[in-house]
Amino acid sequence: IIAEYRDRTRRSAEQAEAARSVFPSGITHDARHLSPYPITVDQGKGSRKWDIDGNEYVDYFGGHGALLLGHCHPRVTAAVKEALDDGTQFAASTTREYRWGKAVIGMVPSVERVRFTASGTEATLLALRLARAYTGRSKLLRFTSYFHGWHDHMTNGYSSHFDGTPTAGVLPSIAADVVLVAPNDIEGAKAALAGGDIAAVIIEPTGASFGRVPIADGVLQALREATAATGTILIFDEVISGFRCSPGGAQQAYGVTPDLTTMAKIVAGGLPGGAVGGRADILERIDFEAAADKGFEKIAHPGTFNANPVSAAAGIAALDIIATSDACDRANAYAAELRERLNRLLKATGMPFAAYGTFSGFHLFLNVEKRSIDPVTFDPFSVPWKELKASPANLVDRIRIAMMINGVDLSGWPGGLASAAHTEDDMAVTMKAFE
Ligand code: PMP
Repeated sequence: IIAEYRDRTRRSAEQAEAARSVFPSGITHDARHLSPYPITVDQGKGSRKWDIDGNEYVDYFGGHGALLLGHCHPRVTAAVKEALDDGTQFAASTTREYRWGKAVIGMVPSVERVRFTASGTEATLLALRLARAYTGRSKLLRFTSYFHGWHDHMTNGYSSHFDGTPTAGVLPSIAADVVLVAPNDIEGAKAALAGGDIAAVIIEPTGASFGRVPIADGVLQALREATAATGTILIFDEVISGFRCSPGGAQQAYGVTPDLTTMAKIVAGGLPGGAVGGRADILERIDFEAAADKGFEKIAHPGTFNANPVSAAAGIAALDIIATSDACDRANAYAAELRERLNRLLKATGMPFAAYGTFSGFHLFLNVEKRSIDPVTFDPFSVPWKELKASPANLVDRIRIAMMINGVDLSGWPGGLASAAHTEDDMAVTMKAFE
């Protein structure tokens, strides 16, 4: 497999070698790491992308989740070009940011006010600060194995340090204020909340990494009730699920309304951007007039590229398409069919892996403990969550490379995200590659 990969991707190999003298590991995002080296991609259209050797891939990496509409959707591209001609940075309010904000409020049930940021990491950072300022409490509760961005408060308990000890470079005092609870351990969460000193609970409403560690029935409702009872702010991290599960995100699909919602990826139509939205009385903490009138200290929130007009243009176009079409339903249906077909194939070939997931995601259970499973009826709740997360890098890389030499780019979960641009033809290429 590796020899064939090297043979097909000679230019990528050269480029990767050159990049190592510029970037650590030759890459600019941890999830783009691949051994022996990753492909270099300069072009995409619809559901496909091409590396610099000219190889074509059905793309399930999906721009880290930003591309529900696929690459280069004509309306999004046209909106971006128009915005570019108008100028990229005015250090001023813009009509585009207003239309963008109105679209978010119109689509996401919990959002009464919104503040744009430059990324999802910035969005969770701001949401947590808002919760602390609003409640006057310092502690945060998060669930092990969940990812909420890479800032100091959110690094422990994602892919390591499940015991809460600080990861390299993070202050012990910051780690000490983050309470870690195991996925779906609602009793553990309630016990921690009972102390009355937790400012916020943050959770990805589909489960960790868009359901790689799935969320159990009733957890969101139970958290909603428990946080309301203790005056704790409930934050849904909808950086992936927002505008993907449904036009109103996972909160609309599940019918549970958080106090604050963090968004990024799709919200900015494939360009950089993020947002925090939620209750007006919480967002008020960054409102100059409210702070003066009510006598509280306003939270500082500048940011050169907050609501930049090019991202705003892409975001307005993408959200309008999502609000007025069946884009979410199509992506969800594609992924459901793909999961089913993958499992039938796995069963037929006797491979003890399984595909699982919800909405437009699919995850491969790699079964490193070599359990006896039926892929078709596999239930991810039947194995401990640590096993769902157990993805030895060597095995993941080999699966990804084997798929790549057959024209499919999976994400490194391993698994991927379907978009509204994937077609029957993509499905056929994927099944052939997997076989
Ligand atoms: N939260 C979740 C659930 C995410 O998946 C991500 C990104 N993968 C982030 C936050 C951070 O977003 P960004 O990469 O835009 O900083």
